[in-house]
Amino acid sequence: MVLHRRKVVLVTGASSGIGRATALRLAAAGHPVVLGARRIDRLEMLVSEIEEAGGTATAVPLDVSDLASVQGFAAAALAHFGRIDVLVANAGVMPLSPLAAGLVDEWDRMIDVNVRGLLHSIAATLPTMLDQGVGHVVTIASVGAYDVSPTAAVYCGTKFAARAITEGLRQESPRGIRVTTVSPGVTESELASTISDASAAAAMVVYRAESISADAIARAVSYAVAERPDVDINEIVVRPAAQR
Ligand code: NDP
Repeated sequence: MVLHRRKVVLVTGASSGIGRATALRLAAAGHPVVLGARRIDRLEMLVSEIEEAGGTATAVPLDVSDLASVQGFAAAALAHFGRIDVLVANAGVMPLSPLAAGLVDEWDRMIDVNVRGLLHSIAATLPTMLDQGVGHVVTIASVGAYDVSPTAAVYCGTKFAARAITEGLRQESPRGIRVTTVSPGVTESELASTISDASAAAAMVVYRAESISADAIARAVSYAVAERPDVDINEIVVRPAAQR
């Protein structure tokens, strides 16, 4: 489906999982996509895949925990395509563990990527959207933005924060700026691969037995992006039908 207008879409964390699927889907809909993540080799392969399918994409190395890197990502998008219509703030990490394990470095990493990374992404793109008078920020939060579970205290804290920040942005934004939170349940991706705590990793094998494809989340993002300019889809929660 080709939409009314091509929108320049920036996707953070586009090298795997939900970000990758979202970039593929939005590029297939005719939107130029700017792909950011640390694994630039993965992004370059994704650019080739999108271009071979007739789409337009560019890859930019990005570490969302570093404000200068995020500003460079936004500047590269402007240099390539002249505007920023949609930010998909998707980059995230989830090294789960019980608080008693005291894995402070992993707590810091979740806060740096999931919270500070989101704030950096908003800071780097919102001024351009405000200048344009139109824009759309889509944050990928989580079902963990609604409920806390054991081993996920810090992760859920970062996702509660992501949802709160996104809702605050919605309330503060002029009517041309649309703001959406998309909250996935268990979704196929590499997200659980960085869990170093053995008990949390074992629990995740059971919890993640039923999952939906990353494209299910990409479809939700695509739906919000494709809505008419006077319609702002505020929140979408997408779970596997089997997940309670
Ligand atoms: P993946 O691990 O597959 O993807 C995470 C992405 O984030 C990768 O592209 C990774 O790229 C990127 N990333 C991590 N750290 C940084 C960083 N410092 N700077 C830039 N990019 C970074 O997991 P998902 O696709 O599942 O995760 C996407 C989002 O969805 C996350 O916010 C996650 O919390 C959320 N989510 C996922 C769920 C699931 O079940 N899969 C459920 C609920 C929410 P690279 O390593 O190359 O930098």
